[in-house]
Amino acid sequence: MKIKQTMSGLLPYQPGKPIEDVKREFGLEEVIKLASNENPYGCSPKVKEAIQQSFHELAVYPDGYARHLREAVAARFGVKETELIFGNGSDEVILILCRSFLTKEDNIVTASPTFPQYRHNAVIEGAKVKEVPLVDGMHDLEAMLEAIDANTKMVFVCNPNNPSGTYVGEEQFLAFLERVPEDVLVISDEAYYEYVAAEDYPETLPLIKRYPNLIVLRTFSKAYGLASLRVGYGVAAAEVIKAVDPGREPFNTNTLAQRAAVAALEDQDFVSACHLKNRTEMERFERFCQETGLSYYPSQTNFILIHFNRPGGEVFHYLLTNGFITRNGEALGFPDAVRITLGTREQNEKLIEALSKLV
Ligand code: PMP
Repeated sequence: MKIKQTMSGLLPYQPGKPIEDVKREFGLEEVIKLASNENPYGCSPKVKEAIQQSFHELAVYPDGYARHLREAVAARFGVKETELIFGNGSDEVILILCRSFLTKEDNIVTASPTFPQYRHNAVIEGAKVKEVPLVDGMHDLEAMLEAIDANTKMVFVCNPNNPSGTYVGEEQFLAFLERVPEDVLVISDEAYYEYVAAEDYPETLPLIKRYPNLIVLRTFSKAYGLASLRVGYGVAAAEVIKAVDPGREPFNTNTLAQRAAVAALEDQDFVSACHLKNRTEMERFERFCQETGLSYYPSQTNFILIHFNRPGGEVFHYLLTNGFITRNGEALGFPDAVRITLGTREQNEKLIEALSKLV
């Protein structure tokens, strides 16, 4: 067997360790996973009802067009139904975009470190990846503009950025959009949109009217608490959506996921409550860092990247043996850091107590 050349050497995605594995490995009774930026409060109770009601639909294929979900998202965010594409997670939308636009002559521009799926999918398509280092954990949009050349097809702006949690403000983003050549797509990945509290964060959806090269990505996996159901979406000019839609699998979002996403969208009180709790918990972590002299990037997400004066792997393993699964910064491009997803108040207090004994 000979795998296609662009895939050789690629590693499969490495998720955080499963709770059961860690319990067994370290003989622990309680293990708390704060590794994958999931919602520690679960999802809206309305989702359960919606899923129960669609039980009888399991034997038939889903609506490949996701009509009800499409209508609900379009109405909620003031976009047209033709301006939306749904994916099996926004992961799949990234895949569809790379599949649709990239050839081996092309390149993409991304920040580094950032969400690894941009690079991963571009590499599979044979495209080159031009990585522009973050500065103080933030996108260097000026350098990203400079990195664009005649072969650049896509520029990915992860806003807020995973794993640093930092964001690009409105003024900066607009100035950037103005200067990106029209034939280069700008992908604004807003997976953590609902967690953002910064007042100068750009409202990008209205911009798709003015910039046909802008694609916005959002997801139901984070604040809406539906990571396991896999629903994400892209918003762009109808002509872009129409062009990329054939690259989508026919039934890529399933019926339960579509129904759940509609119900989740209707319960904005749940999302607002999660947003507020998350900000309170973020302040708890920031206070801890300030009191202990640890540096961190101010985060607009539901995770925080904390720098320690030692290899991130040491802190990661210490936490693991104490029953906390986090992300080792060494695997994320920040060798002295650990990325911690904010949990519930109780979970965070326990983790902070464990960390206090180390720092
Ligand atoms: N973009 C970013 C920045 C992410 O952090 C994630 C999830 N880790 C995704 C996209 C993918 O999310 P999903 O496929 O669950 O929608």
